[in-house]
Amino acid sequence: MKEVQLSLDQVSSMRQIYEEMERGYEQVAAQLQFSCDGCPDNCCDSYFQHHTFVEWGYLWLGFRQLCETRQAEILERSRLYNTACEQALARNERPQVMCPLNENGRCSLYAHRLMVCRTHGVPATMQRPDGKRLDFPGCFRCQELVKKTFTHESEAPRADRTLLLRKLAMLENELMGGKRHLYPRIKLTIAQMLVNGPPSIATPHCERGMGGE
Ligand code: SF4
Ligand code: SF4
Repeated sequence: MKEVQLSLDQVSSMRQIYEEMERGYEQVAAQLQFSCDGCPDNCCDSYFQHHTFVEWGYLWLGFRQLCETRQAEILERSRLYNTACEQALARNERPQVMCPLNENGRCSLYAHRLMVCRTHGVPATMQRPDGKRLDFPGCFRCQELVKKTFTHESEAPRADRTLLLRKLAMLENELMGGKRHLYPRIKLTIAQMLVNGPPSIATPHCERGMGGE
């Protein structure tokens, strides 16, 4: 197997995409006068799966910067997380388990947290490549705010993620040498991304015997 590693330019592009996402989020949050302050919930126990090698690789860039002891602690929590999720799924329940990166309410890899960690909360919209528009109502607390403030939820401002998701898809394809479609689809929780190790793909036949596995 060969590790999928982001180049310096790709790291910089990923950071820019994340920053733009956060700006889009903050604009809508400001318009709605919405914030997480005082929320009784903590979204870090929400069950999300993630779909790109590029986010996985970026997460690992941050993980590698932690000392060995913290890495070991997080990996241990990740294994427990995976077991708890498997048990919930076996009961046909949506897992609700605290993310292994959450330590006393704070994210251990804040600068490397994934897209959904940066965007969950405010209403959002995106247009799929086939033209279909998808709307996301935001978290339960934001939905309550929208109900109180607007006659109809369609009047509420929304973060449009179309362009940023397109940029993310382009970056993902670039990372995979323009052949993203040839590689497996990813559907992994953060804990799985950590326990599985950094993203890797089968070594192409032409590289085997030259140091590849
Ligand atoms: S996004 Fe919503 S549910 Fe999550 S912590 Fe913020 S206010 Fe609470
Ligand atoms: S990566 Fe960080 S922000 Fe995202 S769910 Fe885990 S602890 Fe929360």
